[in-house]
Amino acid sequence: MHAVSWMGSHNMQVKEVPRPMVTDPADVLLRVTNTAICGSDLHLYVHGMPSMKSGDVLGHEFMGVVEEVGDAVTKVKRGDRVLVAFDIACGHCFFCNHGYQSSCDSTNPSKISEAMYGQAMGGVFGYSHLAGGYQGGQADYVQEAMYGQAAGGFFGYSHLTGGYQGGQADFVRVPFGDVNCLKVPDGLADHDALFLTDILPTAWHANEMGEVHEGDVVAIWGAGPVGILAAHCAQHRGARRVIMIDSVQDRLDFVKRKLPGVETLNFKEKETVSALREMTANEPGRGPDVVIEAAGFHYSKSWLHAIEMKLQLETDTADMLNEMITAVRKGGRISIVGVYIGFVNHLNIGAFMEKQLTMRGGQTPVQRYWPTLLPKVQAGELVPSMVITHVLPLEQAPKGYKIFNEKSDGCIKVVLQPGA
Ligand code: NAD
Ligand code: ZN
Repeated sequence: MHAVSWMGSHNMQVKEVPRPMVTDPADVLLRVTNTAICGSDLHLYVHGMPSMKSGDVLGHEFMGVVEEVGDAVTKVKRGDRVLVAFDIACGHCFFCNHGYQSSCDSTNPSKISEAMYGQAMGGVFGYSHLAGGYQGGQADYVQEAMYGQAAGGFFGYSHLTGGYQGGQADFVRVPFGDVNCLKVPDGLADHDALFLTDILPTAWHANEMGEVHEGDVVAIWGAGPVGILAAHCAQHRGARRVIMIDSVQDRLDFVKRKLPGVETLNFKEKETVSALREMTANEPGRGPDVVIEAAGFHYSKSWLHAIEMKLQLETDTADMLNEMITAVRKGGRISIVGVYIGFVNHLNIGAFMEKQLTMRGGQTPVQRYWPTLLPKVQAGELVPSMVITHVLPLEQAPKGYKIFNEKSDGCIKVVLQPGA
């Protein structure tokens, strides 16, 4: 079968790879019909983490038709149209039982997440690529740091998260199929359902963690697919003002067209914090009630600088986070769904403490939000497909990655179609 294979930084190739099989009674084998490229894939595309191995199959946002099920699967059958959560949950551990499916204790079998984060970070910041397995020169960092960032298993998202093959492929194996597949109701179009795999629940999670309520002023860093849907959800929840921050004017214009009422701020034209101060000067709290980070670490100016300068852990990577701490009103809420790795130094904890702020973050427990979000999508109250700008055959994945990363050709979100 064909699959999008990671072959190094900026080098995704569609390759012939072995077709996966049902290997566990709880497995579902899915024939993929639609799969999207995510900003999370860009973290792997841009920097090529040491946690990736040549040939790894990418993709964690996908849906399709059930091809085969293991003997223990009862909720879906061959021929069903289903979408799949990006986070692989076992459905019965402590964390799954408490709604933290993205922190499942059973599905990251390598259990190397904590260690690898340390090594990934040392490797990335120090540019010292680990050779031959995981016991490289960064091991001391691991021992010292104990990041404790143990993620659950995710599809197509490196060996930090279990090394599962992803769904940018003709077929994909879905472990714990009863827990991780959601049957798509008749009448719901593929592209309306697709983003229940990740970015709509993530946008909702951002709002939940930020406790976005009616009347709130919400500022969002990053007008990519996640940020745009976070704005969409904030409006749906009754936010009085939503302000989107980015430097890509095309994306800000797209937001204005799709989500009337959302205000935009181009940080290349006006510095973010002072512009937000002006925009919220007449608000009771003189600052947004909620600030949402929907960009992720690789956009950090100083992080890029750190790579260039081959700096180590002391590097300040907190620029966006400090903007959020500075801009949010006293007693406000900070919600982080943009992805970070390991330490972020020079975080303004003083202001955070004195301003009585709350900060929450997380990979989204997708399954937790399906009962809330599926009816809203069916009713047309939320329209996540609004972010799609490109639908390409799987074979054109390299082009899809390139334009999504460059934000060229008006690209917001790319959907790939195997067999098209
Ligand atoms: P994207 O790369 O398309 O969008 C990010 C946007 O942030 C870009 O438009 C970029 O121009 C903008 N940006 C860069 N620097 C900025 C700054 N200083 N201030 C404001 N905006 C800035 O990616 P996406 O698909 O929208 O994903 C966004 C983030 O969400 C990524 O880090 C991704 O890994 C993460 N994500 C997290 C989860 C989760 O479960 N928590 C799920 C999906 C995606
Ligand atoms: Zn994603």
